[in-house]
Parts: sequence; structure tokens; C-alpha cells
Amino acid sequence: MKVFNNVIEMVGNTPMVKVTNMDTGPCELYLKLELQNPGGSIKDRIAVEMVEQAEKQGKLKPGDTIIEATAGNTGLGLALVAAGKGYPLKIVMPDKMSQEKVNNLRAMGAEVVQTRSDVQKGHPEYYQDMAARMAEENGYYYVNQFENPANVDAHYKTTGPEIWKQMNGKLDAFVCGVGSGGTLTGVGRYLREQNSGVDLVLADPAGSILEPLVNRNEEVEAGSWLAEGIGEDFIPTICDLKLANTAFAISDKEGMQTARKVLEKEGVMVGSSSGYLIAAALRYCQQQTEPKRVVTLACDTGNRYLSKLFNDDWMRSQNLL
Ligand code: PMP
Repeated sequence: MKVFNNVIEMVGNTPMVKVTNMDTGPCELYLKLELQNPGGSIKDRIAVEMVEQAEKQGKLKPGDTIIEATAGNTGLGLALVAAGKGYPLKIVMPDKMSQEKVNNLRAMGAEVVQTRSDVQKGHPEYYQDMAARMAEENGYYYVNQFENPANVDAHYKTTGPEIWKQMNGKLDAFVCGVGSGGTLTGVGRYLREQNSGVDLVLADPAGSILEPLVNRNEEVEAGSWLAEGIGEDFIPTICDLKLANTAFAISDKEGMQTARKVLEKEGVMVGSSSGYLIAAALRYCQQQTEPKRVVTLACDTGNRYLSKLFNDDWMRSQNLL
């Protein structure tokens, strides 16, 4: 067994497991366990790539402070990388995100600023606008996963090829969500280059603007949803939404209950966004008339949501039980 030189080397090469106790119709459904990254989510991959590219391009130098706008997981990935490389880290996140993520970030030495979840892009208290402004005023390096091509590169170079190899080149569909769009764009491009017939399926929380765009080319006003890390009120610069050939709008109830069922039936403790992804993947599988091989992601660990989706009182308070 491999012994690593440091924790950053342990990012990626995550295992895949077959879903065996849920209704996958005529299909085989596989979960790629991104929760097994050292920082507990898929975002470790982009944290490494974005920091290393910024260093190579001379945009990030020893002594600089890093700032990022995040639902939390990119922050946790950056906290690993920043600690390893000695950069101070500031995180701006919307206040709907779980307290576990905030505590975890603070324990790792990051300074966390929480801002409003009920405002949209362009508002001074929107998390991305706030991070950009703090960077401008204080000379921090703003990573900006929503506009940073290194985010897409990380998935094109690692997540995509790993999936293709693990499936032995036999893959019919990949299901993912969009937060920054890095996963969809990077994995999607790689997979389509291997097999142009691969279905790329978007799992979107009901209330997000993306599903109506993909399915009906319809522009809607953003609503609100409880999933952390997926669903958007704008299309991020790096996101190539046209890659998705179909989309499913998943309600909070279906998404959160699916996350709980995956733990109960499959023994994998996934976070909230993964519940929506797996719900969409199951629906896609159940609609098929031919057997297909489908992959989706366990994006992050459910440990970060013990006070929310795995807490009956919280579930009840949100009318999700
Ligand atoms: N799931 C979780 C838990 C996330 O934190 C994120 C990133 N915000 C995503 C899914 C979406 O991935 P991407 O940013 O690559 O679209």
C-alpha cells in the first residue's frame, strides 16, 4: 500500500462503489466517493489545482493571503492546501451553510466571514461580491472558482480520467450538479472526448435557474433551496451548461430524503448535494428501457450535516419528513 509524503498528495484517486439496494431500473449505478478526499469533498481537487496554477503564473507568492467565496467545501480544500503551503486563508460563505463547515474551517485556521444567503449576484452582501471587494481593498489573492479555468482543468485532468478508467471505458451517463460548473465542464468535456454519446445529466435543486434553461431554454427568477453547493442564480463564467443534454429538478424533500436513504441502504454517509445527485441518477436509471452504466458522485461527507439532514428536528422544522 502506498505511503504518501503529505496530505495534498492524497487528493483524488477516489474509490467507486455500486448501488445495490436501491431501485436502479435496468441500469447499473455507481457512486464515486469524493467524500474520501482528505478534506472530505470533491473540492479538494480544485483547491490543489487553483493554488498550484496561481503559484506557477506568479499570481500567488509567499506571504500572500488567499480569499475565496464558497459554500464551504472549496474553503475546506483550500484550508488543507493553504496550511500545507503557509498561506493565511479568508473564507466568505452564505449564512445558510452548516455550522459544522464553519467550525471545521475555523479549526483549520481559516478566518470565516458569513454573509447573507437571501441576496443575489450584484448585491454588496452577496458572498462572491463581498470576497471580490475584500480582495481588492486588502490586496488578497481571490481564487474565484466561478471564473477560474484551473477549476475545470482539475476535473478534466483527474476526475474525468479516473471515472473513464474505473468504468473500463464502458459508460453511458454521468450525473452531476452545478455550483461553479467545474465538475460538469471538466468531467463532461473529458468524457465526451472519449465517447461523444455519453449522456451528461444535470441534477438541479428546484428553485435554481439551471434546470429550466437546460430542459426548456426558459429563463426563470431564482428561488431558494436547501442543498449546499449546488443550484445557481446565475451561470458561472466557467460553466459550459450546453454540455448537459437533460436535467432533473429535485425538490428539497426528495434530495434530503435520498441522502438519508443512501446511508440506510448503501452504508455511505453522503452530504446534501449528493442526495439530489443520486435522486436524479435514480430517476434517470428508472426511465431507461435498455441497461445502462451510470456514474454519479458522493460529493462530500454527511458528517458535515449532522445538525441538518441527519437531524430529525431540523428535517421536521423544514417540512422534509
Ligand atoms: N456538491 C458540493 C457538496 C459542493 O460543495 C459543490 C461545489 N460548490 C458541488 C457539489 C458542485 O460542484 P461544482 O462547483 O464543480 O459545480
